[in-house]
Amino acid sequence: MKKNWKKLFLVCCALILTIFSGMTGIRAEDKLNVVTTTTHLTDLVQQIGGDKVTVTGLMGAGVDPHGYKPTPSDIDKLSEADLIGHNGLHLEAMFTDVLESMEKNGKNIFSLEEAVAEEDVLEYPYEGKDLDRDPHIWFDVEIWKQATQLVGDKLSELDPDNNEYYQENVKAYQTQLDELNTYIEERVDEIPEESRYLITAHDAFNYFGENYGFEVVGIQGLNSQTEAGTGDISAVADLAIEHNINATFIESSVPDRNVQALVEAVDARGGNLEIGGVLYSDALGTDEENAGNYIDAYKTNVDTIVDALK
Ligand SMILES: [Zn+2]
Repeated sequence: MKKNWKKLFLVCCALILTIFSGMTGIRAEDKLNVVTTTTHLTDLVQQIGGDKVTVTGLMGAGVDPHGYKPTPSDIDKLSEADLIGHNGLHLEAMFTDVLESMEKNGKNIFSLEEAVAEEDVLEYPYEGKDLDRDPHIWFDVEIWKQATQLVGDKLSELDPDNNEYYQENVKAYQTQLDELNTYIEERVDEIPEESRYLITAHDAFNYFGENYGFEVVGIQGLNSQTEAGTGDISAVADLAIEHNINATFIESSVPDRNVQALVEAVDARGGNLEIGGVLYSDALGTDEENAGNYIDAYKTNVDTIVDALK
């Protein structure tokens, strides 16, 4: 008799465990499934969505969004998403057709472009068809705060039960972004104003330059997919000599051949231009590189720039 009770007890325990794990299984499936393109946006949705959403980022560390083509498996992920987020402003040029056709079919899609007032988008005198507005908006911390609110609102809209959770995360993250802004201002103050020239592989840093007083020069222009001519490299080399600039920077998502060619061109003119380090421009890096999320990557960039130019 005693044995039977023990057996019954064990059966009950097993039953309770099964029911409980079944319940948590259902909850996991109920989570909002968000698919994002760039690493910056993936991080932002993770910061705000926390454990209430499942976020799948299509691009990994060091991937160049200008040239990234969606794979068949990306298309599957996009089709299964409850919500799709992209940067917009033609950054992810190869996604335009796919996203347009999904939007026509009623998919929930948002672009960070929605968060930015038209007058805050920097214009760029680039001759290409679609890139006359600068898409590198994440380098404007104020714009990124607005993007944070947009992400919170999109999540709340589709998952109103967790509205309070998302909005609290928005507030907390915006405070962290204010602290980041103070950090950037304090560090940039270490560089004399006449030395604030930022020469990189392509023009990803115009918003940064605008906000913190840098003259920004991209060897390849706004789109990493265009080729720099020898004329471009000569012109930048002349500028480096003229303004006595001592460092240029590699970008983790762009091949470094033009930066190397620039260093040689300055050398040939009797000057000296060092490579100041790697910047995380259009893609975040890894945690090991201290660039696995937006705030870390921004701080790492600023430390690299300031340490090389001060
Ligand atoms: Zn870019």
